[in-house]
Amino acid sequence: KAQDPNQLEFHQAVHEVIESLAPFLLDHPKYLKMRILERLVEPERVLHFRVPWLDDQGNIQVNRGFRVEMNSAIGPYKGGLRFHPTVNLSIMKFLAFEQTFKNSLTSLPMGGGKGGSDFDPKNKSDLEVMRFCQSFMTELFRHIGPNTDVPAGDIGVGGREIGFLFGQYKRLRNEFTGVLTGKGIEWGGSLIRPEATGYGTVYFAQEMMSTKGEDLKGKVVCISGSGNVAQFAAQKVLELGGKVVTMSDSGGFIHDPDGIDPEKLEFIFQLKNEQRGRIKEYSDKYGCPYHAGQRPWSVACDIALPCATENEVHKEDAEHLLKNGCQVVAEGANMPCTPEAVHLFLKSKILYAPGKAANAGGVAVSGLEMAQNSMRLNWTREEVDARLHTIMKTIHAMCLKHGAQKDGWINYVDGANIGGFVKVAQAMLAQGVV
Ligand code: NDP
Repeated sequence: KAQDPNQLEFHQAVHEVIESLAPFLLDHPKYLKMRILERLVEPERVLHFRVPWLDDQGNIQVNRGFRVEMNSAIGPYKGGLRFHPTVNLSIMKFLAFEQTFKNSLTSLPMGGGKGGSDFDPKNKSDLEVMRFCQSFMTELFRHIGPNTDVPAGDIGVGGREIGFLFGQYKRLRNEFTGVLTGKGIEWGGSLIRPEATGYGTVYFAQEMMSTKGEDLKGKVVCISGSGNVAQFAAQKVLELGGKVVTMSDSGGFIHDPDGIDPEKLEFIFQLKNEQRGRIKEYSDKYGCPYHAGQRPWSVACDIALPCATENEVHKEDAEHLLKNGCQVVAEGANMPCTPEAVHLFLKSKILYAPGKAANAGGVAVSGLEMAQNSMRLNWTREEVDARLHTIMKTIHAMCLKHGAQKDGWINYVDGANIGGFVKVAQAMLAQGVV
């Protein structure tokens, strides 16, 4: 903290992990002796670079590019790229740190990394986004590779951006390899990758419900966000018989008490992915309330799936959720709940799963995309979905193994942190002082 006093998000993520690992580490002093924790919090490498590009008016714009290569103990660095004006080194490090544990939990051989830029793709033309992506990759390409570091999408980086980034990498290296995941299906992508984070989060929530002998049928679900994760989480909830009553974007949230049915959800897919519009337009079309500048957590629900961004569930939001009888919170986004909110969930002993467990489906299918690229073949939709489902069940089982308490309640925070830690720590011990 003394060295990097401004890295608040990174400290928040590390603090949460250390808090739940502490008793485990005291029981296993070999990790303390070999200073695994001190090594885990220090990235193996941080890249910070200039990204100059020309806008449509011919003006030079300058953004910052980052890639944090956090940990390669169990495989090549793996983690998304985020393009959003709030991106800074603290956010990159927090995400890369979380990613290390998450990737370990998937049981696939992937290390942890994360990257991005403070570039804002909103209100930019396709050509501006392309020029930016080409400039970004012109520096990044020398640091990544299919056996070294394999980036993917995150906030602000979807299929369009991955396409531009991949095109530039291929041109610079003269190689067609699986250097990025989230690729289009015609050029090396995997079926189910776009759906994977949202579907995986709901599969995980389903496992959580099953510990109480329940399922999603008839359950009221609040979702935040309306991007990639939120859209496919909503789709899977509907498929499993739940009722989604909210979605949001950075402008506010819509509350549809009748439920967002498949036809209305299709409107959101079109609105967000084709027209790049605002969620408010949903309320204009379907005549339901829109709450500008607010988050959806005051709406009564059985299950909450925060799928937008970090620190979007505050203490008072958690109080609302608990007061309204919410039983399950599964994080589709990374670190969406503040420490105060998490504390309340744990204290009230509802089922709360952190993103590193609940949203690991996206990177898991990225790992499956890497495997398909290496074998130069494509699995069917059913095959990838079945593997995703199995991986989410395995992660849930890992959380039970390390998080089940004597009174039957499951502490998913402890479960995910310890479960994710052990494999990485063992690999680091085996590889010596590196
Ligand atoms: P998208 O860019 O597709 O969507 C993000 C959504 O969140 C949008 O609705 C966006 O609204 C909203 N949002 C973003 N920033 C804010 C903010 N500061 N306040 C309120 N709303 C905000 O991103 P993804 O769906 O891919 O990612 C969402 C979350 O899931 C992130 O935390 C990401 O790290 C995490 N995640 C994503 C994975 C993936 O596979 N995509 C994998 C694992 C985790 P607006 O359009 O107005 O900005």
